[in-house]
Amino acid sequence: MKLSHYFLPTLRQAPSDADTISTKLMQRAGLIRKVTGGLYEWLPFGLRALKNVEQIVREEMNAVNGQEVWLPIVHPKNLWEETGRWNQYGKELLRFKDRKDAEFCLAPTAEEVITDLVRNEISSYRQLPVFLYQFGTKFRDEIRPRFGVMRSREFYMKDGYSFHADEKDAENFYQKAFTAYQNIFKRCGLKFRPVEAETGAIGGSFSHEFMVLAETGENEIAYCSCGYAANSERAECAPPSPPPPEPSQPLQEVHTPNAWTVEDVAKLLKAAKEKFLKTLFYMADGKPIVALVRGDHELNENKLMRHLGSKKLEKATDKEYEQIAGCPVGFAGPVGLDGRASLLADLAVQTVFNGISGANKKDYHLKNINRDRDYRPAQFVDLHVAAPGDRCPRCQKPFQFCRGIEVGHTFKLGTKYSQSMKATYLDAEQHSKPFIMGCYGIGVSRVVAAAIEQGNDENGIIWPASIAPFQVQLIPIESEDSKIKEAVEKLYQGLQKRNISVLLDDRSERAGVKFKDADLIGTPLRITVSSKTIEKDSVELKRRSSKELQMIPLNQCPDFVDTLLHEMLK
Ligand code: ATP
Ligand code: MG
Repeated sequence: MKLSHYFLPTLRQAPSDADTISTKLMQRAGLIRKVTGGLYEWLPFGLRALKNVEQIVREEMNAVNGQEVWLPIVHPKNLWEETGRWNQYGKELLRFKDRKDAEFCLAPTAEEVITDLVRNEISSYRQLPVFLYQFGTKFRDEIRPRFGVMRSREFYMKDGYSFHADEKDAENFYQKAFTAYQNIFKRCGLKFRPVEAETGAIGGSFSHEFMVLAETGENEIAYCSCGYAANSERAECAPPSPPPPEPSQPLQEVHTPNAWTVEDVAKLLKAAKEKFLKTLFYMADGKPIVALVRGDHELNENKLMRHLGSKKLEKATDKEYEQIAGCPVGFAGPVGLDGRASLLADLAVQTVFNGISGANKKDYHLKNINRDRDYRPAQFVDLHVAAPGDRCPRCQKPFQFCRGIEVGHTFKLGTKYSQSMKATYLDAEQHSKPFIMGCYGIGVSRVVAAAIEQGNDENGIIWPASIAPFQVQLIPIESEDSKIKEAVEKLYQGLQKRNISVLLDDRSERAGVKFKDADLIGTPLRITVSSKTIEKDSVELKRRSSKELQMIPLNQCPDFVDTLLHEMLK
């Protein structure tokens, strides 16, 4: 590709609303443009990277017998009603009507449509397993689109769905898909970590997220040297080792006017947050539940829901809270609540002696609360979001934490969709059985942004060679010189003959401008041809990721670059 005619509009300054390094660089380097909140155009340079990621994903999906399909993005309401997700999905699902008033949604994911396809076409265990996948646009009306294409409303996803006759086959395939995902992200040149995850709106029995490690990631990962790693919203915590017990002090009521948050009361009473018992009210399938967590912890609603086995968990309204606790919001505590609602306490609450909590009375808190004497939860269970100080559930070592960008998600769905949609096959004994399913997503557009989030410096992008829009940037200096012109043209042809993608900067710009642009757009290898190099029958080679300059004989250059790229792609 010759740069003089390439649609690559670069910017000196990123738009002021660009909120991450990758968003800034993707706009400055001419990969994307913003149409409006959460909607982007992909320009030729960006699309080349996207297509490179897509191809890697496609190859790895095909390697585990994936067969590519293309499903519609507009889905009819009736299929989504069969699984109940038409009502459950919430506002991320964009629903609309056609001219005949029939209702549809824009696909955020495609379990319903694919399950419908398979139930119509597959009837026997002999036709199983089958693994179908597609690339395509997904739409989610995200409440707060941000981070450019990392959390956009419209994005490009690979979604795959597998159908199996039994659990064992589904599990074996899950392992294969997991390995394929590891291959994909390795080949994309990313530093990543698979972690145990919540199943969210897609559901199912268990799942893994693939996290690209980056400080700016939205997710927090709790991990341990033993190999355990989980999204901190999922991570289980080992029971905390109890501190030495303190002698019980007498219960004491203290006046705390206008102080109802842990922070406010802690300040007022000059006490540590760890001394507090946070008392939280929920309605689980319509029944009141009170959950206690330590003041420095956050309640993990997923853990609470899983423990209760409830379908719907909602924070109690102020009215419900007041009815249960008999006091205004902010002044509830465990003492005297037994009997009014089921009381569950987090394991770490066991470490609180002489604790502080609301007195179930306006403007009052209680000091020196001790369990058994003052309150008695129905059970102590792991209920809080893993936090520093927590320990690994497998080996009890303290967790370490890092941040990540979720680029892929694999789910073992089991029969969640096949059961509700009556998607069945006949087994060898002619018994009708629901398909066992798995589903496997990759945010292809998010992968491109995540790669840039991980690969950049003050001058611009540093692409992994495997997904870079071009592998080589060829820069002639004083390009009117016929000797240089001839050498460059020969190189340009020679490299392309070896299937190397080359961007030739044939603009009549100064060397400084060309180098600056090359750094901004981040092509892995830069080859400069100038009168100085031609004098020595050579070219100057530089990797984007290093400062080192290397002289290579002109006639050996294409082969040298070919070998080097092969090494870089390993
Ligand atoms: P998140 O927790 O980030 O919202 P999710 O759990 O909703 O993600 P999945 O439903 O598992 O995501 O979707 C599969 C993949 O699609 C994700 O791993 C991610 O890479 C990508 N993805 C999800 N939402 C978006 C979005 N709004 N913009 C870009 N990519 C997205
Ligand atoms: Mg989401």
